[in-house]
Amino acid sequence: MKIVGKIITLVFVAPSNIHGKGVFSKQRITARKKIGELSGMLISKQAARKKVKEQPAIHMVELWNGKALDCSEFRNELAFINHSCKPNCYMRNINNLVEFYALRSIKMNEELTCNYGETHHDGKLPCRCGCEGCIGNL
Ligand SMILES: [Zn+2]
Repeated sequence: MKIVGKIITLVFVAPSNIHGKGVFSKQRITARKKIGELSGMLISKQAARKKVKEQPAIHMVELWNGKALDCSEFRNELAFINHSCKPNCYMRNINNLVEFYALRSIKMNEELTCNYGETHHDGKLPCRCGCEGCIGNL
């Protein structure tokens, strides 16, 4: 099933200082404001785990309801939000939606980052966020 997320604030995808492509804000965002929701294909957690084993660099988010959002083919800009150990956004999962909110006020052209928490990389992917207090691995 396709999950079509809405994006509320203006964002753009561009090369990131952290890793690959990143998402940047086209406007000032006040703290706590909703940025938008992730788009993806809704699949079972089982299918998701099988897929990330075969393609470790995939965009995949596990949900609380036992499903997962696969952003490898169908996705929106928010799939490119990079991890930071000192992020400016946070993620909230309600049912099949993964929502992003501003953790603090965000400047125009600032990269949006989120703490991924536990990932399918099992601590094997080096973190490149470069912030003070970086945990080192994802
Ligand atoms: Zn880090």
